Amino acid sequence: MGEAVKWTMKDNPTATIALAGNPNSGKTTLFNAITGARQHVGNYPGITVERKEGTINFRGTKIKLIDLPGTYSLSAYSQEELVARNFLTNEKPDIVIDIVDATMLERHLYLAIQFFELGMPVILALNMMDDARKQGLRIDTDKLSKLLNCPVVETVARSGQGKKELIETAVKHASEKKQEWVPLEISYGAELDLILDDMSKIILEHQFMTDRYPARWIALKYLENDTEIIRYGRQNGKGAEELEKISKKTKEHCIKTLKVPPEAIIADYRYGLINSILKQDIIIQEKTRQERINFTAKLDSLLVNRFLGPILMIAVLYSMFQITFTVGEIPMGWLESLFGLISATATLLIPEGLLQSLVVSGIIDGVGGVMGFVPLIAIMFLMISFLEDSGYMARVAYMLDRVLRIFGLHGYSAMPFIISGGIAGGCAVPGVMATRTLRSPKEKLATLLTAPFMPCGAKLPVFLLLIAAFFTEYKAQMMFSITLFAWVMALLVAKLVRSTVIKGESTPFIMELPPYRLPTLRGVFIHTWERTWQYIKKAGTVILAVSILLWAAMTFPGLPEQQANQFETERLSAISTIQNSADRKQALTDINNLEGQTALRYSLAGRIGSSLEPLSQLAGFDWRTNIALVGGFAAKEVIVSTFGTAYSLGDVDPEAADTLSSRIAGDPTWNKFTALAMIVFVLLYAPCVVTVVAMAKESSWRWAIFATTFNTALGFGMAVIIYQIGTKLFI
Ligand code: GDP
Ligand code: MG
Repeated sequence: MGEAVKWTMKDNPTATIALAGNPNSGKTTLFNAITGARQHVGNYPGITVERKEGTINFRGTKIKLIDLPGTYSLSAYSQEELVARNFLTNEKPDIVIDIVDATMLERHLYLAIQFFELGMPVILALNMMDDARKQGLRIDTDKLSKLLNCPVVETVARSGQGKKELIETAVKHASEKKQEWVPLEISYGAELDLILDDMSKIILEHQFMTDRYPARWIALKYLENDTEIIRYGRQNGKGAEELEKISKKTKEHCIKTLKVPPEAIIADYRYGLINSILKQDIIIQEKTRQERINFTAKLDSLLVNRFLGPILMIAVLYSMFQITFTVGEIPMGWLESLFGLISATATLLIPEGLLQSLVVSGIIDGVGGVMGFVPLIAIMFLMISFLEDSGYMARVAYMLDRVLRIFGLHGYSAMPFIISGGIAGGCAVPGVMATRTLRSPKEKLATLLTAPFMPCGAKLPVFLLLIAAFFTEYKAQMMFSITLFAWVMALLVAKLVRSTVIKGESTPFIMELPPYRLPTLRGVFIHTWERTWQYIKKAGTVILAVSILLWAAMTFPGLPEQQANQFETERLSAISTIQNSADRKQALTDINNLEGQTALRYSLAGRIGSSLEPLSQLAGFDWRTNIALVGGFAAKEVIVSTFGTAYSLGDVDPEAADTLSSRIAGDPTWNKFTALAMIVFVLLYAPCVVTVVAMAKESSWRWAIFATTFNTALGFGMAVIIYQIGTKLFI
């Protein structure tokens, strides 16, 4: 630590601020911007260097502003430097604003370092920030300020930007620092440091000019061979001779050993300090616009290449899809376990009966169903945001646009389709939400109406069940055909709605391909969170209500007492008559399952299923299929498990539906064409409730209801055609 020099702020309410800096750093411009017309131009006494002064009022303080001559350093090489230095040390302004050109930080900080060595209270104005930004420079001002231990304010003197903050900071800093200022001590290497220490001792001993300058600074000036200080020293007292002797000896030594004079070594160390500060990621060089354009052109010659482009696009889309669902599976598993646990706890805590059934099957399953989608949505938006912000999405749209436009869609429609299950196994909820990237309302609507046709992950168990029952040898071919069929239907229906209910010219594709950029993590995360939270909030309430309604439809009315008693009697007799415990258990399960089936048929949902039978028979669906399909409206996952109940098998785990598939295969009411009709119906009919809510949110309830009815009608029509033609011609 250097010894403190007492420079107290004058007691009068006037503050003096000196503007210092390299020539052309913008001092005069800033001075004019701050003072306006209130300025006085004169000369420093005896010389032709211009002295400019102005005053302003800042919150009751009269501030005198002085525009110092521009200098590169504080040596005594030129008249300007001398004037500036003498002004600072003689008149002791309350604060120095050092104006540095932000585009040439390294060079301009050289002067700042010398202010620090003098112990001046300094704040830095990083001027020319407009130019810096144009050059793609970003400066970490906070870090710079910390490392230099001095406030830093960004300014654009030409437009006056930042001047208010600058004055505010200056006044604040001046009053904080008014007690004493501590000069910065830089190491100039072991050798010079020792010499500087010796010289400082002599200087302090003789109180040699220490009223004006810090001791070490004086020593430095002697080593730098500062003629002004040496001259002044000779007039000013003892020690001068000794100091001159030491500096002469040092100079000879330096030239002999290093071939440079001490002032060059000193300058090297100062620049070394600046570099070590700037190296800590203070300046971030972003690509300039032109560089970005060139880079983009190069990348595009690969990514939008006529042959490579589509291949890379498929690779990118496919991996994005894979990542969404493989990564999503992990948190989805956690959520599943969590809701399983909650469900089990509720079953334990609430006595068996209606309330338990409502809480477990109605509320917890409903909420769990909604929450289960959250990881998928979050991950998918994370990746879409990334692809969008990076500029790649625009390329995807560009490449696909020509094909999709034939069907009245848009290049951006591809993503929602793919996410919805365009590669089998997606989910229409995030798919529908992804239509947000479509900025033209007509194409967006057509996309979100048709995206739910895709074979989403919840439909797959139904397909797998039916394929296992009737087309075991053609599993892969069937899955591929189903996916292809979904795409064909989506595109044809899009074409249909675009030439009827959502008629109108395609929005011309006037999309300029934006330059590629690296997205910021922060931006991507914020987007993702906002979208995810919206989903949780809005979907959560509606779905809970629908889930409870569906539960009620499948529960009420309960079996009449007489019938319920009959099952109870059967159970009792099984317990008393069957000896073998395994057989007894089996018998009880059979009775329970039969009761479940009977109760389901008796319930409102069962009655709807039965009453639909005359119509649904056209497609080969009996009442049991109908209930499963009605349940599938809540969530397609429900179809297989409801089938299980309806076929008196109890709750069937969709993953292990072997028994169910053989039961269906053996059922005389089923054949290949019933199965095909059902596959097509499940693929096309009303989207699940969560999707419908998402659709309503993205468009309107009118369109969501339209999709629900239209898709169901379409699915049924197709199913009838397949079943009728198939059974008439082939069976
Ligand atoms: P001085 O030598 O430090 O007094 O610098 P001047 O105030 O005379 O400015 C030098 C040049 O830089 C002039 O052409 C100013 O218009 C220009 N200049 C000053 N401040 C800015 C700024 O913030 N941005 C840009 N782009 N130019 C500036
Ligand atoms: Mg000037």
